[in-house]
Amino acid sequence: MCIFCKIINKEIPSNTVAENEEFYAFHDINPKAPVHVLVIPKTHYNSFNDIPGEMMGKMGTFMQEVAKTLGIDQSGYRIISNIGENGGQEVGHLHFHVVGGAKLHWGHFADADPKDFF
Ligand code: AMP
Repeated sequence: MCIFCKIINKEIPSNTVAENEEFYAFHDINPKAPVHVLVIPKTHYNSFNDIPGEMMGKMGTFMQEVAKTLGIDQSGYRIISNIGENGGQEVGHLHFHVVGGAKLHWGHFADADPKDFF
């Protein structure tokens, strides 16, 4: 069983933000901003590549509610899903990072020159 499935099953402790029948939101153990929450589906999908569209729609609605609960919906925030090796995904259970609480940087994404792709 993957680490996030263990969190859903309460085999590993986590700091809950919100929960419903299908989704779970909890604080990231290694926050990169004042607010850094992970949102996961209770059904295991390896990554964003695998979630059915209808489920993704419901997850979007849940994340909107999470942003309101966290009080960052008006100040602004960022939703990120790392996918696969190049995406930097470390945990193989679909998750969205909800990050905010301060002005976020827009970073240096790739160790390659974008001009090489055009
Ligand atoms: P990613 O690189 O997109 O796969 O992100 C995985 C995230 O999971 C990282 O930000 C980790 O800090 C976070 N993480 C890993 N284990 C735990 C845990 N037990 N509780 C909370 N967050 C975790």
